Amino acid sequence: MRRISVSVILLLTAVAVVLGVTVFLCTCAQRKGEIMNDEAEAVPKTSINELTVTVVYDNNPYGQGLETSWGFSAFITGPEKTILFDSGGDGSMLLRNMKKLEVEANSVDAVVLSHIHGDHTGGLSSFLEKNPDVTVYLPESFPKRFKDKVRGYGARAVEVGEPTKICANVYSTGQLGKWIKEQALIIRTEKGLIVITGCAHPGIVNIVNAAKDLLKEDILFVMGGFHLEWAGKGKIEKIISAFKELNVRYAGPCHCTGAKARKLFEEHFGENYINIGAGKVINLADLK
Ligand SMILES: [Zn+2]
Ligand SMILES: [Zn+2]
Repeated sequence: MRRISVSVILLLTAVAVVLGVTVFLCTCAQRKGEIMNDEAEAVPKTSINELTVTVVYDNNPYGQGLETSWGFSAFITGPEKTILFDSGGDGSMLLRNMKKLEVEANSVDAVVLSHIHGDHTGGLSSFLEKNPDVTVYLPESFPKRFKDKVRGYGARAVEVGEPTKICANVYSTGQLGKWIKEQALIIRTEKGLIVITGCAHPGIVNIVNAAKDLLKEDILFVMGGFHLEWAGKGKIEKIISAFKELNVRYAGPCHCTGAKARKLFEEHFGENYINIGAGKVINLADLK
């Protein structure tokens, strides 16, 4: 009898310890997000077969009747979460463009901020006033006051250090770079990986390499700011060669890429160059 009660006590203690650790880990996970690990990746791969990326904010013009201003933001539907990547510089302009493009701020589940610069984060407050029911994934190096402000709106803030899973088939590269820390978005589709960058301060080739290393799949499409506004022709051509070596199928440089680099990408990628500006809509179905 006595032996049984000792066993019961031991069993109950073990259960309590397991529960305690689980609760602790869950609380940490809410702040840190789901770090990518082998176990998480061991689940069968079911990749995305429908995806739309709508560029709601860019300094390059594209769609009629849309405003342009320095900055970048893209609205992504198709994955289990609807995502806003970056928020442009001016919140009211962001919301006006979203309205014109008929993409609903209220449908967004997750906001991913590439880096701290105002042309990527400036629109966030106006957005959160409209829809605070989102999880904001931001590099952990962001100042505390920024994170507090996000939480002050009632939104959840996930601080990204390591590569992080946002939802099925959607990942952050994790915080990259030494000087200006930046994360990029990776979407695994049935046709290959799509990489979306903000300003690519850590280097666009480094970012594409990081995406490929992480998911070990072909790169279908790289879009966003490549940060080559002041780069010389030699440097730009080296980057284009690196893209070719990495087998990047489509390139859509915009925002801070600069006119010279965009033109060179267009020359080298031909019909696989995607001209991106405010209002451009990219459908996975149109990529081969
Ligand atoms: Zn920047
Ligand atoms: Zn920028």
